[in-house]
Amino acid sequence: MTTTRFAPSPTGYLHIGNLRTALFNWVIARKAGGTFILRLDDTDPERSKPEFADQIKRDLEWLGLTWDRVETQSSRLDRYNAAADELRTPGRFYECFETPTELDLKRKKQLNMRKPPVYDRSALSLSDGEKDALRAERSGHWRFKLNHERIEWNDGILGDLSIDAASVSDPVLIRGDGQFLYTLASVCDDVDFGITNVVRGSDHVTNTATQIQIIEALGGAVPTFAHHSLLTGPQGEGLSKRLGTLALKDLREQGVEPMALLSHLARLGSSEPVELRQNMADLIDGFDLSRFGSAPTKFDVADLGALSAKLLHYMDISRVQGDLDALEIPTELATPFWEMARENIETRADLAGLWALCRDGVEPLIDTEDIDFISKSMNLLPANPRSDTSWKEWTTAVKEATGRKGKGLFMPLRKALTGMSHGPDMSKLLPLLQNIGGR
Ligand code: GLU
Repeated sequence: MTTTRFAPSPTGYLHIGNLRTALFNWVIARKAGGTFILRLDDTDPERSKPEFADQIKRDLEWLGLTWDRVETQSSRLDRYNAAADELRTPGRFYECFETPTELDLKRKKQLNMRKPPVYDRSALSLSDGEKDALRAERSGHWRFKLNHERIEWNDGILGDLSIDAASVSDPVLIRGDGQFLYTLASVCDDVDFGITNVVRGSDHVTNTATQIQIIEALGGAVPTFAHHSLLTGPQGEGLSKRLGTLALKDLREQGVEPMALLSHLARLGSSEPVELRQNMADLIDGFDLSRFGSAPTKFDVADLGALSAKLLHYMDISRVQGDLDALEIPTELATPFWEMARENIETRADLAGLWALCRDGVEPLIDTEDIDFISKSMNLLPANPRSDTSWKEWTTAVKEATGRKGKGLFMPLRKALTGMSHGPDMSKLLPLLQNIGGR
C-alpha cells in the first residue's frame, strides 16, 4: 500500500517551500488511496517546541492536508538505539573523536590539495587503547561506514541518478552528546512505517544516497524517491532569507485562499499551466509528479493575491456562508450580496467593507458642479425595496429629466451612492443599499 510522510522539524513555522513537499506527498497518498503520515522530526530537544508542532498542524488543517496519523521521533529513541546496535555488530558503525575544529582543518587541507572534502576515516585505524584514551577526554560520535560503490536509483523527478559513495563522507548518525541525527531516525522511521514513496527537496539528494545504504543495512525495503527543485524568488534569488516572511500562517492572515495556494503549488515548476481548482478532488486528479522539472522554480508571492481573488470571483456561496453569517447579513440578502461582492473583493476580509456600505451607506462624494444634478436625481430614486431593474429605471428617468448621459450621468451617481469612483456593478449594488441618505 502506498504510504507517504511529511516530516517537518517543529523548530519553526511552515513556509511555502515546506508546503510544496507536504502537498506532493499528500497528493501521492490520496491519489493511491494510501496513508499519509505527519512525522514530527523532533530529535533536537533544544530547538523543537510544542508551539511549532501545534502551528504545523493548524496550517495543514487550514489547507485541508489531512493526515492519517502523527508520529514523533522523540518517542522512538529506543528504536534508534536498537538500530544503532544492529549496525555496530557487522561493523557498519564506528566511533570517531575528531573535534569540529579538527574536521574543519582536515577539510581545508583537502580543498587546498584540490581533493574533495570527504572524511578520511582515520578513526577506523585507532587502536582500542587510543580510543580509550580519547574517550577519557571527550565523548565520541558515530559514523555509518558506507560501502564504496555507486549508489543508483530512478528518481521520480530527476530520472536515473547515480552517486559514487566514495565521494561522500560517512554520515554521522549519533552526536557526541548522544543525540540521534536526522539520518538515522528518518531511515528507521521510513523502514518501520512502510514508507513507499519519499518526495523532498533536491537539497536531500546526497542524503538519499547514504540513506539507501543504511536502509539496506537494516534490511528494509528502499522506497521510491523523488526530489523536487527548490523555490527561488521572482528574480531567481534564493528564498531562504525571505522564507520567514513566507510563513503559511502569515499568508493565511493576509487572506490567501487555501485552494489558490494549493492550485498554484500543484503546478508551479511543472510543464503544465496553473489551473485554479475549487476542490481537492480536482486538484488530486490534475496532479502528475512526472511533469515536474529539475530547474529551480521561481515563486512570486504576488501571484497568490491574484489567484485568490480569481478563486473568490468564481466561488459558490456555500463556501463563504460562514463569513456572511459572521457579518449578520440577513438570509434573504445573502445570495444577491455575494453575487455583487465576489467580483469586487481581493480577500474575504473585504466583505466587511462592502456590507457596511450596503447596511449603513456612506458619506456621499459630490463634486460642486454636480450638486444640483444629484439633488434632482435623488428625488427620482425608486423607493425601497429596490430590485435589479431599479438602476436602469432610475438612470433612464434621470437622463430624461437632466439630459445627461454616459459617464456624466453614471459617475456622479456612483460617487454619491458609494463614495468611490469605482466599484461594484451598480445594478447589482443598488437593490442592496439599505440606507441612501435615510432612504
Ligand atoms: N526533517 C527533515 C527536513 O525537514 C525531513 C527530510 C525528509 O523528508 O527526509 O528536512
